[in-house]
Amino acid sequence: MLRRIVAENGYDHRWSYAVVIVCSLLVSGATAFSAWVMAPMVNQIFYERSSGAVWWICAGFMGAFLVRGFAGYGQAVMLATIGNNLVARYQKRCFDQLMKLGVNFFNDTRSGRLAAQLDENVGGIRDLLSLTLISITRDAVTLVGLVGLMIYQDPVLSLSSLLIGPPLIWAVVYITRRVRKINRESVLINSRLSGSVQEAVQGIAIVKAFTMEDELARRIGIMADTAEQRSNKIARVSERLSPISDMLAGLAVTAVIAYSGYRALYLGQPPGAVFSFITALILAYDPARRLARMQVTMERALVNARMIYELLDLEPKQGDAPDAVEAKITTGEVRFNNVTFGYSADMPVLRNLSFTAAAGKVTAIVGASGAGKSTLVALLQRFYDVDQGSIEVDGQDISKVTKRSLRQSIAYVSQAPYLFEGTIRDNIRYGRLSATDAEIEQAAKQAAADEFIRQQPQGYDTPVGENGVTLSGGQRQRVSIARAIVRQAPILLLDEATSALDNEAEARVQEALTHVMEGRTTIVIAHRLSTVVNADRIIVLEEGRLVEEGTHATLMADPHSIYARFHRIQGKKGLGLVDDVKASQTSAQTTASRSRAKKTVRRSA
Ligand code: ADP
Repeated sequence: MLRRIVAENGYDHRWSYAVVIVCSLLVSGATAFSAWVMAPMVNQIFYERSSGAVWWICAGFMGAFLVRGFAGYGQAVMLATIGNNLVARYQKRCFDQLMKLGVNFFNDTRSGRLAAQLDENVGGIRDLLSLTLISITRDAVTLVGLVGLMIYQDPVLSLSSLLIGPPLIWAVVYITRRVRKINRESVLINSRLSGSVQEAVQGIAIVKAFTMEDELARRIGIMADTAEQRSNKIARVSERLSPISDMLAGLAVTAVIAYSGYRALYLGQPPGAVFSFITALILAYDPARRLARMQVTMERALVNARMIYELLDLEPKQGDAPDAVEAKITTGEVRFNNVTFGYSADMPVLRNLSFTAAAGKVTAIVGASGAGKSTLVALLQRFYDVDQGSIEVDGQDISKVTKRSLRQSIAYVSQAPYLFEGTIRDNIRYGRLSATDAEIEQAAKQAAADEFIRQQPQGYDTPVGENGVTLSGGQRQRVSIARAIVRQAPILLLDEATSALDNEAEARVQEALTHVMEGRTTIVIAHRLSTVVNADRIIVLEEGRLVEEGTHATLMADPHSIYARFHRIQGKKGLGLVDDVKASQTSAQTTASRSRAKKTVRRSA
């Protein structure tokens, strides 16, 4: 893992690493020097009582600490810079990768959790690198210097104190293994926790409306408790290293003092070398302990890094065919040829569906909820690949053209329009980045949005918050229609809002839509009677099959047609079309809800 991270990023940071290494060598040299100087200090000042030595020893000490201080500063700043740059790099890479992944990835992933996990994971990569870098450069180099000094001063004593190495390594290996599994669990539970918090905040209106506060608080509480337990367990296991290493270090120091004391007392050896040795030994303890610990701490960073690479290594599904060409779409005629498709292999949602949406005309799709209307629209944008059959636009099979060129010829207005962080102008411009301000305002006029936009505090430059909370449902819808107009695409996909709009707003949205439909091949998931009646062609879907097709007049001509039945109920009750369809299609509804129930079970499993 580490090798891969270094291979992918190391080269660009080579100069920074060089500075870090030079600084580390200086720190290490200064530390070793301050231990070494103990020998002449004890021997010349205290043993031989030489006054001249005081000066250069004091100067040496001072110098060593100055060098250590400045080199340590350089080292720390450089390491932080490298770490921050890595975080930024991995954030960008992850986002690019997310944008490449298909819609199916996001169906299976909870957005809040994903964001929280990425955040934690990217931090993990930084930790990983800075931990290794700090440990290897600073601690390992310092340790080498000090051990070198110890061997130089007293080879026999060094050997005895180095004996604690093997048991320490054994302890590290044991603890690392124990901590590995808990770490992964802990990262997952933490990201679930922050993801759930985020989702609760996003859905705050529903939370309050259904008085879900206590229940959500209870669930979050359980997760927080689990996270706490996991963290405690990690602390308990990884802190086992402290008593072990302290005990071993105590043994080493005791042995050294006992042996050197014996030599001083009975063999009359001058004390300088021993003092220097013990200073080096004590100074070496900290970096040695940190090095041993690094392995344990790094486990967590490694878990995070692995999770990042699991995401980065995901192959985006249904990518462009290797010989994909740019789609040449002018009129935008759409043709479904015997299309069969299911989200899972055993449950087809669309069955053998064939129809043509004529160029420049409005085709309305009508059917009970769960009949497959949204699926049809998703397939046309190639969010998924069909299982059988084909979809053609202007005679070109959409699986043989690049997705980008296909989607550039499509403007999509969804039922719940989404506004992105930024100004109203930005939000309209997402339709086509090259649109001029004049084009944007023209589109807003056509979408009956210009008037209310100008009434906003900063007009077109008014920022809209997350989900565009400052705008009403109808206003948001009109902004998204303006976005579709600006796109200047030959095909318009429209998922009509079922409700949420009052009569006046609805009339305005309708007016806006009439503009945008002009001269475009429009496929609309129709919920409003007016849209259906005025459509050039109506397609009635039932359980993913095309059951009736025609215009309002031809379909109404047969009083027994399903469409005529929808229409009669609609007239009587004055309900939305979808509700009527539901009412008259109990069997279809039962099937749909059964399949939904199955889906839920599968997800929660
Ligand atoms: P409609 O738009 O007509 O209400 P949909 O196309 O949304 O119908 O759904 C058709 C069927 O496909 C339903 O049974 C629904 O449960 C299922 N379905 C829709 N989206 C998904 C998905 N992302 N994963 C699995 N099943 C889905």
